[in-house]
Amino acid sequence: MILISIIASLPLFGNMANGQAKMNKKAVLVIHGGAGVISRENLSESMEKEYRNELAKSLQIGYKILKKGGSSEEAVVEVISNMEDSPLFNAGIGSVLNENGNVEMDASLMRGDDLACGSVAGVRRTKNPIRGARVVMNETKHVFIIGEGGDVIAEKYDLPVEPPEYFQTERRLKQLEERKKQNDRRGSLIYDDSKFGTVGAVALDQSGDLCAGTSTGGTSNKLMGRVGDSPLIGSGTYASNKSCGVSCTGDGEYFIRSQAANTAAALMEFGGKTIEESLKSVMDDHVGPLGGVGGLIGLDKDGNYSWYFNSKGMYRGVLFEDGTMLVEIFGAP
Ligand code: ASP
Repeated sequence: MILISIIASLPLFGNMANGQAKMNKKAVLVIHGGAGVISRENLSESMEKEYRNELAKSLQIGYKILKKGGSSEEAVVEVISNMEDSPLFNAGIGSVLNENGNVEMDASLMRGDDLACGSVAGVRRTKNPIRGARVVMNETKHVFIIGEGGDVIAEKYDLPVEPPEYFQTERRLKQLEERKKQNDRRGSLIYDDSKFGTVGAVALDQSGDLCAGTSTGGTSNKLMGRVGDSPLIGSGTYASNKSCGVSCTGDGEYFIRSQAANTAAALMEFGGKTIEESLKSVMDDHVGPLGGVGGLIGLDKDGNYSWYFNSKGMYRGVLFEDGTMLVEIFGAP
């Protein structure tokens, strides 16, 4: 039996953490389940437990794959698929709805060894958009397929598809109603709790290869056709064995404008910064000053991990080489 223990929540430095420096062991998988106004006051004990369990379950899925020598790509796809299948997160079946009450889901995947990448945006029937992104990356000569084309590719490669009603959960329909009452005509550019739950993962396998992926339903009450940062390589996702893998969450528009994921990798590769310094700089010097709220996770080729967010909390977790893991939700007290 695989022995996995959850290390009790440790007080972090502000809203950041650097794994190897603090834990003195190599991280092999870092995940997030979205950032936002997540605080002890607005998360019940039972919901907190559900989130912690789901994050831990996702890390365990990754551990099983990585321990037996599976690729970082496989680990990221399986971990994100598991989170997409949980209604807790804003991805797959938990996706938020656009202004018309429909899902339009976005996902991307990138490999660190050859910079191969694949994305889908605005898919409405693909059960696991991250698997769609993988098909685009591995089976086509393209890197980005949008809308119906993404669902058709999923069907062509026998990925599970569902009717649109499958994704229209009670919770998200209610949330949409609330957003509409606020009469936000700009298409949800105000950061609020209806955007929690985008999911992302970065893994490092035994061959030393990094892979990063992100999947989301976007923002509640978004305009039809709106695409955020999550499927955009360089904005919401990036991976290079020369630096690190990164996955972002938060106000997508600001992460796009600051090219957040690629900026983090470039700060490492060309700026000589550590993973911790890079992630902090992306939020404090780039996304934050524009007005963007959210966070990001990162893992470098030596197994140093970090996360950083300027929101109240971020669902997040890290798995170490020895199978131990750390799951966190809230920011610094
Ligand atoms: N970044 C996502 C988007 O803008 C939303 C989120 O991460 O909460 O589509």
